[in-house]
Amino acid sequence: MSTTQQLQDFVTQVRRDILRQVHQVNSGHPGGSLGCAEFFSVLYQEVMDYSTDFKMNGENEDLFFLSNGHISPVFYSVLARSGFFPVDELNTFRKIDSRLQGHPTTHEALPGIRIASGSLGQGLSVAIGAAAAKKLNNDDKLIYTLHGDGELQEGQNWEAIMYAAGNKVDNLIATVDYNKKQIDGATDDVLPLGSLKAKFEAFDWDVIELKEGNSCDAIKSALNEAKSRTGKGKPVVILMETEMGNGVDFMMGTHAWHGKAPSDEQLKTALEQNPETLGDY
Ligand SMILES: [Mg+2]
Repeated sequence: MSTTQQLQDFVTQVRRDILRQVHQVNSGHPGGSLGCAEFFSVLYQEVMDYSTDFKMNGENEDLFFLSNGHISPVFYSVLARSGFFPVDELNTFRKIDSRLQGHPTTHEALPGIRIASGSLGQGLSVAIGAAAAKKLNNDDKLIYTLHGDGELQEGQNWEAIMYAAGNKVDNLIATVDYNKKQIDGATDDVLPLGSLKAKFEAFDWDVIELKEGNSCDAIKSALNEAKSRTGKGKPVVILMETEMGNGVDFMMGTHAWHGKAPSDEQLKTALEQNPETLGDY
């Protein structure tokens, strides 16, 4: 358990790591990464029960699957700072032969990564398999996932959403990064999602709405509420409203930083807004 200040310091350092990784190689996705810095920090620092002595089968521990893998900078930073691999390996992000590829992959064997991603829409299907395996093994730990909202435009999600409810996969907590934006603009302009709450409820999921998706306290409450609703015959989803680019003033309120690296000058400004707390890699 961290104090509020310790958790906020962790988040601030994660933001710096995101910005520095993407800037160094002039490539990557800072917007969604920054928007989910609080979620990953709370999940790995406060909520999940896991071992950093990484074993792929994940028996008797909570598991997390990232479906919208392009926000790898936040995932890598939080994994490193939670003890899965050395923090200075963040220096290798997106470089040839690095274990930290632009989209997470498994053949590099980076501790903490259990699925490759890149093509969107597949994470929930994998997570359902892992959730079913836990039930078969009488393993009472939980499966957590994260999905982009734009990613829900991929049809495979809805097959998985239907399957999970129909098969009572109730040891699964999916979270949607509901920032209403995707790489080409507002989700409403690209392909409207309508009411996600109504859609998930129509598919017989238990829905939790999280309006303050960039508040560590609110995220922690929502995840704890979700945990309390597992084991009751329904999969649980958290619709987490976030701000893309959160924590960097010029990256907020726009989709422009979905997949764009900051310049030297922009990095300097962004880092000034997020002073070093736990030590840069
Ligand atoms: Mg989005």
